[in-house]
Amino acid sequence: MDLVQDADWSKGAAYIDGQVMPVAEAKIPITDWGYRRSDVTYDVVGVYYGSFFRLDEHIARFRRSMQELRMEPKESDAELRQILIDLVRRTGLREAYVAMDCLRGRPPRGVPFHPAFAKPYIAAFAIPWVWLFTEEQQARGVHAIIAKTPRIAPESVDPTVKNFHWGDLTKALFEAEEAGAETAFLLDQAGFLTEGPGYNCFAVIDGTVVSPPRGALLGQTRDSVYELCQELGIPHDIRPISKAELEDADEIFMSTTAGGIMPVSRLGTRILGNDRPGPISATLRETFWKKREQGWHATPVNYDKAPA
Ligand code: PLP
Repeated sequence: MDLVQDADWSKGAAYIDGQVMPVAEAKIPITDWGYRRSDVTYDVVGVYYGSFFRLDEHIARFRRSMQELRMEPKESDAELRQILIDLVRRTGLREAYVAMDCLRGRPPRGVPFHPAFAKPYIAAFAIPWVWLFTEEQQARGVHAIIAKTPRIAPESVDPTVKNFHWGDLTKALFEAEEAGAETAFLLDQAGFLTEGPGYNCFAVIDGTVVSPPRGALLGQTRDSVYELCQELGIPHDIRPISKAELEDADEIFMSTTAGGIMPVSRLGTRILGNDRPGPISATLRETFWKKREQGWHATPVNYDKAPA
């Protein structure tokens, strides 16, 4: 039996260093430094309504992350773009979560044990769409806390290089669970807002949508929020947000690829507004998905064309 021929591609398709396989068969070596040292960078792009969103921006951010980590896999940006499109075509999925990783690999035996001697390579996959928070949670507003765990310093691990150093974020998620909440926002060592596990954070303060200038990934969805604010005439700013300002904000919301714009209705013991998404958060969320449906920043997937 030809496993690849008979595979159920609708569950997902993967690409590892030149080979394509069903996602369930995709494996990386256990000795890879991508796994053993978290020496890996990645990006995630969404497909919704049959189109990629901001595909070229995601690839550009991924390339910059790889360059920062001195990783140079064999694929060009144009090749990577085609690989991702072909993976989605193969699955036939109109709503997909598409990940691209660059792993360090492992230095060969007999040379100094140093990352410079490894050969980084690409692993990518497309699987059915994943929501970071359910549609019900988003509609009623997510319940969050401010974590006691601070975000790892950007001087140690640069948050603008998308990474899996998730120790602080994971710890914060357990703090949230213990507090009966669903997620947690992390502050930096000086007590200013950074980001949360898998998303950027925004506060609405005196009618202005604000998000921190440092300590967080430069999110593609965050850029989209600022574009929408511009278009809708909503005042917006990028500036530090103190813990006290966050606790007192009129509205709070989060942004990420796997969820879009996600309102918050509780912060610790505080109930925001009516225990429902605030008006600015709700308008941004609604407009975001409406524009997505209309082809905003879209790269449509041609499902009729067989993958190469
Ligand atoms: N911050 C972190 C830590 C993330 O992991 C993510 C996305 O996975 C984001 C922010 C949001 O980035 P984007 O909107 O580009 O998905």
